[in-house]
Amino acid sequence: MTINRLLPQEFLSLIEPMLPAQLTLDDVITACHQPLRFSIRVNTLKNSVTTFCSLMSDFGWKFESIPWCDTGFWVELPQDATAPGKLPEHLTGLFYIQEASSMLPPMALFHGNDKPVVTVLDLAAAPGSKTTQIAALMNNKGTLVANEYSSSRIKALHSNLQRMGVSNTVISHFDGHVHGDYLENCFDAVLIDAPCSGEGTVRKDATAFKNWSLSHISEISIVQQGLLRSAFMALKPGGVLVYSTCALNFIENQQVCQSLMDQFGDQIEIVNLSNLFSDADRATTPEGYLHIWPQIYDSEGFFIAKFKKRSATNLSQPAPFKNRFPFSPVSPKQAGEIHNILIQQKLANINSSELYQRDNEIWYFPSHVTALLPRMKFQRTGLKLFETKGKNILFDHHAVTVFTTPDVEISREQLVEYLKGRDISFDNATNLTGNVYVGYQGKTVGLGKWIRNKIKNKLPRNLVNDSVKQ
Ligand code: SAM
Repeated sequence: MTINRLLPQEFLSLIEPMLPAQLTLDDVITACHQPLRFSIRVNTLKNSVTTFCSLMSDFGWKFESIPWCDTGFWVELPQDATAPGKLPEHLTGLFYIQEASSMLPPMALFHGNDKPVVTVLDLAAAPGSKTTQIAALMNNKGTLVANEYSSSRIKALHSNLQRMGVSNTVISHFDGHVHGDYLENCFDAVLIDAPCSGEGTVRKDATAFKNWSLSHISEISIVQQGLLRSAFMALKPGGVLVYSTCALNFIENQQVCQSLMDQFGDQIEIVNLSNLFSDADRATTPEGYLHIWPQIYDSEGFFIAKFKKRSATNLSQPAPFKNRFPFSPVSPKQAGEIHNILIQQKLANINSSELYQRDNEIWYFPSHVTALLPRMKFQRTGLKLFETKGKNILFDHHAVTVFTTPDVEISREQLVEYLKGRDISFDNATNLTGNVYVGYQGKTVGLGKWIRNKIKNKLPRNLVNDSVKQ
């Protein structure tokens, strides 16, 4: 029997009466004291699973498939391995370090739907593990609204979206309680990965229970109920909603879901998740939710519930919203000129209907976003393609990583130099001149400029990273 060093007695007394018959409290305690297996998700916006696994196998990584996510793997690293977060493959977005059970909510959102999912809201998004997974599941198409309330976490969200090459996302920065009012009946799918007590994270964070108390759980469950109601309102009729937490107790999970069911009666139904993957019934609750106790799949604890909205709601009372929107669609004449520039600079797959202008900048907006613009203020809409300065056209780093293919493929050693902000030297002088898209593994990692036998580094200064290692 494991000696309990981490879990308060009050917590154990709370969960014990509700544990399913086949699970024991001793096993919960033992599992919570085991280290967590390291896991990653391959970013299919930048490379395929096969290419990535073959690349990293050469560096001694051993992959084991995660049964519920075809792009997720537990990875056994060699003893002397570089910390994965410092690898050039991480900094260029080929993979995301993500706990296995945290891959479940997006998989549940997209599983078995009878309608296509084109517009998605992620109501509590930072730092973006699930937003970037959803964007990959959407293949960067449609519109994904990522909301985050905390100003300090918005920055991490934005930089992860850029690193992973996401281009279909707009960011809002509000308390998620307001989205139901402003964007009622708007989305095919909504995820609310709610702020919670975090009990399920104790295997990676021994301090997870430091501020744990019943009164905190009671307070946070009120927030969760409000966010879940707002998320449900934001759904179109026929749309699907996933509620998830990394809490293990029933107050934040089953009870919050029950409050939604009680409010919306005939307008809501539970989507049973027992067939989400082959072994899912081991974690399925009598209601059809997944309650992932850490010992079931040797993972973090998680809770996932899925609902469908049967009919439209009519509850919103949005305050009048005056948006001084600084962008305007480009005129047909401008669109032609811009189209020529984009072709000349080899930026592919951009329609003129997606082009917007702000002063001397040209932006790309995800399709369908224009319907949302009059209804709510967004902190960031789409991505900047380029700006003009006199006769110069300055392309944006994020845009070239999303919309171009590389002119020059560099080695892993050269990539490390590039990410450190250094120029890349070649043995032989070339007669090439001008801008060049620098690539690794077939994806553009940024801009450079040919100068004789060198590519001058044009990585934005804020992305230069001295700690990157092979
Ligand atoms: N979904 C994220 C991911 O996978 O990377 C993790 C989300 S985390 C569990 C919950 C997030 O909700 C935190 O970033 C927190 O700042 C945010 N949050 C807290 N209160 C909120 C509110 N009222 N509205 C929206 N977001 C909120």
